[in-house]
Amino acid sequence: MEFLPENIDRYAGLWTEPASELLERIERETWQEVLMPRMLSGHQQGRFLSLISHLMHPKRILEIGTYTGYSALCLAEGLAPDGVLHTIDINEELETRVRGYFNAYGKGNQMHLHVGAALDVLETADWAREPWDLVFIDADKENYRAYYNALVERVRPGGLIVADNVLWSGKVADPEEQDSETEGLRAYVAQVQKDPRVVHQLLPFRDGLSVSRRVVRP
Ligand code: SAH
Ligand code: CA
Repeated sequence: MEFLPENIDRYAGLWTEPASELLERIERETWQEVLMPRMLSGHQQGRFLSLISHLMHPKRILEIGTYTGYSALCLAEGLAPDGVLHTIDINEELETRVRGYFNAYGKGNQMHLHVGAALDVLETADWAREPWDLVFIDADKENYRAYYNALVERVRPGGLIVADNVLWSGKVADPEEQDSETEGLRAYVAQVQKDPRVVHQLLPFRDGLSVSRRVVRP
């Protein structure tokens, strides 16, 4: 999933602030005990999400695709004192684990996990109607556009929609790859790039981060 040569990636990791003990425990236990541990954001991306959060000082963060809670806890690091993070995952088998990690975190009472299909949850929940400062899309790749369409009008001017894995191990740049996830990710970046409501940049960081900043246009 990483594009850098291993030694360069290791060097960059060495010169990046270490993750907290709790995050290191989550990473370790995810690799030992959970299926598909490569989905976890990990040290370097986690520190970058934390940086964005500290820069924005958000009051309302939404994450789609919690998995074991690693990225949620990184995103929560810069939360305003009265801020909240809502995160949604369809996999109920992870619920007890994630709640345990959130409780172990100092700001656990600001973290809200919702179990269900994200589009259904977003459509029906009252808490989803207020504007968001920061959104992290990291669930099923076919639905990235649907998540964006459901959310873009609910992101405040200056707010960000960050979408993970938009390089998909490089498959997006290979025209022979036409599976539904790869196509979903290609269509996602094409759509946000041409949407006048946001300014978009694709950062070739780890597996590719798409960052859309909400702007006000007449
Ligand atoms: N954000 C996590 C990794 C998320 S992995 C991190 O960086 O550490 C993707 C997650 O999306 C999985 O846990 C999967 O259960 C969830 N998911 C897949 N389809 C979903 C859907 N329709 N609604 C909500 N969550 C979904
Ligand atoms: Ca991801």
